[in-house]
Amino acid sequence: MENRVFQTEVKQLLHMMIHSIYSNKEIFLRELIANAADAIDKARFESLTNPEFSQDWEIRISPDKTAGTLTISDNGIGMTKDEIIKNLGTIAHSGTKAFMEAMQNAKEGQSSPELIGQFGVGFYSAFMVADKVTVESCKAGGKEAVRWESSGEESFSIAEGTRTSQGTSITLHLKDDAKEYLENWQISTIVKKYSDFIEHPVKMLQTVKDKDGKDIMEDKVLNSRTAIWLRPQSEVKDEEYTSFYNHLTGHYDEPIARINYSAEGATEFKALLYIPSQCPFDFHFPGRKSTDLQLYIRRVFISDDCKGLVPNYLRFVAGVVDSSDLPLNISRETLQDNPMIGKINKAVTKRILTELDNLLKNKREEYTEFFKNFGPQLKEGTHEDYANAEKLRNLLLFETLNKPAAEYSTLKEYVAAMPADQKEIYYMTGDSREYMEASPHIESFKKAGYDVLMMHEPIDEWVVQAIPEYEGKKLVSVAKAKISADSAAMKELNEKAEKAAQEQGGKDLISKIKEVLADKVKDVRFSGAMTESVSRLSGEENDPSPHMQRIMKALNQPVMEVKRILELNPSHPLISGLTKLVEKDPANPKVSEYAELLYDQALLAEGSPLPDPAKFAKRAASLMAESIEKEI
Ligand code: ADP
Repeated sequence: MENRVFQTEVKQLLHMMIHSIYSNKEIFLRELIANAADAIDKARFESLTNPEFSQDWEIRISPDKTAGTLTISDNGIGMTKDEIIKNLGTIAHSGTKAFMEAMQNAKEGQSSPELIGQFGVGFYSAFMVADKVTVESCKAGGKEAVRWESSGEESFSIAEGTRTSQGTSITLHLKDDAKEYLENWQISTIVKKYSDFIEHPVKMLQTVKDKDGKDIMEDKVLNSRTAIWLRPQSEVKDEEYTSFYNHLTGHYDEPIARINYSAEGATEFKALLYIPSQCPFDFHFPGRKSTDLQLYIRRVFISDDCKGLVPNYLRFVAGVVDSSDLPLNISRETLQDNPMIGKINKAVTKRILTELDNLLKNKREEYTEFFKNFGPQLKEGTHEDYANAEKLRNLLLFETLNKPAAEYSTLKEYVAAMPADQKEIYYMTGDSREYMEASPHIESFKKAGYDVLMMHEPIDEWVVQAIPEYEGKKLVSVAKAKISADSAAMKELNEKAEKAAQEQGGKDLISKIKEVLADKVKDVRFSGAMTESVSRLSGEENDPSPHMQRIMKALNQPVMEVKRILELNPSHPLISGLTKLVEKDPANPKVSEYAELLYDQALLAEGSPLPDPAKFAKRAASLMAESIEKEI
């Protein structure tokens, strides 16, 4: 027998395992089962060329209450003497350092001791529950068995072993406060929780009654081994897929799409993804985990809240990603920054967007339902994901002026239906479709027959910024002062406006109103934008929309106040009357009152708040009183 001293980092790690109190010690079993499964995977691979390595692969858990020991054994690849010295004592694995740093922080109160469950701490986690660990191993194809033993503090001993068959047995001499891990139900629960989808059977002998009622010992497989995402699709029933989705998410809708994805080559992983049809009731709750996507590494459960697996805007996607490349000892804390996760993210995103595109093309009704629930998320994507900007644009649906509410068009469909003389894509943003339809901004478009995208979700203001043009056509707000008026109807309206601006009466009216509203608007003009309304407020090309300004205010964001342009409808009887009034007596105090009212009306019509509602009410009331007096 020989004694060896642990390498310094291993020593530090062991010290922590032994002396600290961590709440979820149970993860030691997950780690040992994962190691056993890895060892079997390696042996199975070798057996392709060395059939004599072949076995009925199994991982066995044997609790011994009398001896107070728990043994985890496998018939995998095993270790030679040199390997066991190297692997279990002299080389600290890669996760060690990250784990220890995190633990150090935990001590300073920055992080919770729960943290241990987030790390692959490996073999050494056995020392959380055992005061002595004995490892017996026999390398596949080798003849000599080796025995490793340690109580964790300083050193380990190496001796000849007694094991005669290939594989490794790890015996934990459980501490007094860890004897619960000898209970069958406890072991079964932990295996189910962490290692249910491990491909190889995790077996345990259990006492059962035979048909005569006598106690007999029987092998029981503790894990279901049904890694549904690894089974051939043809063998899995639709109900099974759906019930797995229910199990993952706790939601009972029927997903509108399922993606079975197997990536091979530089990045290897399998994914089973679901696109929900309904928005989960807790989707917008602040405390909700970032996704319903679980990360596995070679069937070992790693995380159910792995942020980087999909971009934030696809957080509604549920499912499992099982990576073959990531190391099990990866720090769960830094997962998001791992380049491999980045690669998975890229591939998965592409696949999901393709699926959504298929749905849009082939199952329009279902897609529309989906879009009603998750449209705002896809819209976020147009802002966040430049790499997929093109695809995302094509996935958006919009209500339009010429179609009833809740009937949607894609940008492609909108453009395809544009009359030949229409050069730009017109949109309007606002709080509700109802208000928008009644808005003065939309009148000339109705007359011209041009369709307008009706955007009434707060995020739409960001969408139009992210999509300056589509298929070479600029997106232009109907509330902008200058839009290319190419239709005959619009041309006619504009000509009228120009004519009014040339006439002396018109000129006088404009300069009078400008004078009155000097501190409220930057310009007053006649405009061909309206057919029924008397006035509206418009902006220059790059001015923020009033809707955007209201959102920013609601979000407590700084708002840049930009003066607007007051546009008057020259065909409206009120404007022709006013022109005459100014002609007669430019100093008439009524003109100022009317000017103020025109401004306030324009604000009201677009849903903007009035700066002084009381004053507006008084003005309107006194004008009504005058008009009534004339009637009686
Ligand atoms: P990790 O598994 O993350 O590499 P561990 O500390 O858990 O780190 O294990 C260190 C090494 O010991 C493993 O990489 C593996 O080579 C070896 N090992 C552990 N358990 C077994 C086992 N049951 N059979 C064969 N080799 C094992």
